[in-house]
Amino acid sequence: MASSHIQPGLLRKMTVRRILETLQQQGPLSRADLTRETGISAPTVSKAVVDLLESGLLEEGEAPDNALGRPGKRLQLARSRAQVVGVVLDVQSCRVVSASLDGEINEEHVKTFAPPANYETLIDILSRTVEDLVKQTTSILLGIGISSPGLVDEENELCLLSPNLQVTNQHSPAKDLAAIFDVPTICMQESRALCLAERLYGKARGLDDFAMMDVSTGLGLGVFIGGELLRGQSGLAGELGHLTVDPTGKLCGCGNHGCLETLATDSALATMVAEKSGKKLSIDEVVRQLRAGELQAPEELNRVCEYLAIGMSAAINLFNPSTLFVHGRFLEISDSMLAQVIRMTRRRTLDPSFERCTIEMAITTKDQAAIAAIVHHLTTAAGPRVGN
Ligand SMILES: [Zn+2]
Repeated sequence: MASSHIQPGLLRKMTVRRILETLQQQGPLSRADLTRETGISAPTVSKAVVDLLESGLLEEGEAPDNALGRPGKRLQLARSRAQVVGVVLDVQSCRVVSASLDGEINEEHVKTFAPPANYETLIDILSRTVEDLVKQTTSILLGIGISSPGLVDEENELCLLSPNLQVTNQHSPAKDLAAIFDVPTICMQESRALCLAERLYGKARGLDDFAMMDVSTGLGLGVFIGGELLRGQSGLAGELGHLTVDPTGKLCGCGNHGCLETLATDSALATMVAEKSGKKLSIDEVVRQLRAGELQAPEELNRVCEYLAIGMSAAINLFNPSTLFVHGRFLEISDSMLAQVIRMTRRRTLDPSFERCTIEMAITTKDQAAIAAIVHHLTTAAGPRVGN
C-alpha cells in the first residue's frame, strides 16, 4: 500500500486500529514489540500510542519480571482506568456486567433481573443497574454493548422483532442508553456478538474464516469471512434459524411453519420433551434430568440432532468455514452427543468442505458476547482496517 497517497489523519486512524487489534490478539506488548508486530514505523506507532493513552483505551502496565536489560513498559488495553458494560437481553433473565477493555469480566459485579413486561421499566432498570456498576469503581465508562435475541437492524439501531422477548420490539435500547450515559452504545444480535466474542476471547483467535451457530433459545449464525463479520445490508445476515425445513411443521415465532429453529435448538428439545411427558420443564431442568439419567428421551434427542446436522451442513456448504463453533447446552447432555451430530453432518455436507472444517463447542458466554460487541465497535470506530 502506498502510504504517501493516504491523508495523514487517515493513516493515524488506521494505525490506531491496527494497534488495538494487535493487542487484542496478542495481549500486552512493549512499544518495540508493537512496532515489530504491526510492521508500522516506530515514530508512527509512538504518536498513535499517545492518542490511545489519552483516550483511555490503552494504559501502561509493568514490564515482565523476567525481562533482561532495560525493558520498556508494556502497553495493554485498559484494565484499571476504563471499563465497558455489557447488557445481555435474554428470555429467562437479563444480565448487566462490567469488564476491562481486554474483556475480563468483573464477576463480583454481575447483576441479574427478570425481563420486565414493558419497555420503559426495562430502560429504567438498566439505567439504574449500569449506574450502580459504574459507581463501584473509579474507572471511566467508555461504552455499552447490548446482546439481543431476535432480529436487530444494526443500521438503524432498532430491535425489530424478537418472538421470544417481545419487550424490545420496535425499540432502540442502544439509543436510549446512549442518551442517558453519553457514551457509544451498540446493540447486536446475540449470535453475531457470540461470534465476535469467540474471536476476541475464545477459540477463534487468529481465525479469519469461521462460523458460530447458536442453538440455545433460537438458532442464529454469525460468520467471519476474510477477517470481517458478515453483516448484510443492515445486520440481518445469518438468519439460518428461519430456513423452512418442514413445510407442515410447527408455527415459528416469525409467523412461518417448520423453521429450523423450531426443531434444532435447546428450546425445541424442551418443547418435544414437554409434549411427550406432559410436564413443562425449563431448558436447564431438561438438560439436567437427561444428563443425570432421570429422564429418557432418545427419539427426541435424535430428532434434534438430525435437524441440527441439517443446519450445520447448510452453514458449512454455504460459507466454507475453517471451524464451525456451536453454542448450546443440549450437546453437553452426554460426551458422545457432539460426535453423533458431527457424523450426521458429514453425511449431508459436500466432502471437500466438510474435510477442511472442524466442528467444536464454543467456549465464550453471552456476557462476553455483549462485551465483545462494544469492544469491537470501539476498535472499528477508531479507523479503517489496514489492508494486507
Ligand atoms: Zn421462523
